[in-house]
Amino acid sequence: MKPLVVGNWKMHGTESEAPTLARQIRRGMRALHGVEVVLAPPFTALTAVQKVIKGSSVHLAAQDVHWEAEGAFTGEVSPKMLKEAGCRFVIIGHSERRHLFHESDQTVAKKMLAALGAGLQPILCVGETWEERRKGETTRVIARQLRVALKGLGKSDIKKIEIAYEPVWAIGTGRNATAAQASAVHQRIRGFLKRLVGQERAASCRILYGGSVKPDNAGGLSLAAEVNGLLVGGASLKARDFLAIVRCCNPISL
Ligand code: PEP
Repeated sequence: MKPLVVGNWKMHGTESEAPTLARQIRRGMRALHGVEVVLAPPFTALTAVQKVIKGSSVHLAAQDVHWEAEGAFTGEVSPKMLKEAGCRFVIIGHSERRHLFHESDQTVAKKMLAALGAGLQPILCVGETWEERRKGETTRVIARQLRVALKGLGKSDIKKIEIAYEPVWAIGTGRNATAAQASAVHQRIRGFLKRLVGQERAASCRILYGGSVKPDNAGGLSLAAEVNGLLVGGASLKARDFLAIVRCCNPISL
């Protein structure tokens, strides 16, 4: 399967600033064919970035979505609005949403259903805190997050979903999981998916690693067993770093 690299720009880049970075990445991607790239700018920059990447191999994602189609939900953005802005993907359940904005597993599940219903491909984030890892609860936490998020979806929906394993302790901390740590959790996620939807469907789902990915650790992480791509936060804000990370995931350039 083609590796996927997602750049999560978080709350960085205005409508006038974001196209410059998108243009640099689009240009750099001309030489890279074996990898799929997705950019997730803030809501207000989606349309401007879409104009830049249209017709290229770079796709657009939103960082979040509401589960209702429309209504009295001040500050929220619906799946249809994202579709119309040109999004193919949407990040759901990012740890910053779960922890800073108290999103529950149930909220994540509603967003998953709504996104798929609108034809968006969810990038579902799961991951444990340091305290949970320390207590040996990593597998239990991730299994719970997956069980709730995927409940109610059809078995074939799994093909439209990307899963990102993002240990909370590694996000924005400069302290990445080792390739062995990432691989161990990815293998457990794959096993969970196999039990849920069967071997063949489970094999079609990409499992990305995210958490302090940088050009100097991307090679090792991307080659780890069951790691099918990377979700990059901080390092996706510099085209040079991001493209170096993409290159690490490109089997053709190895
Ligand atoms: C993220 O935002 O999902 C992320 C992994 O951030 P960082 O790469 O900065 O740790």
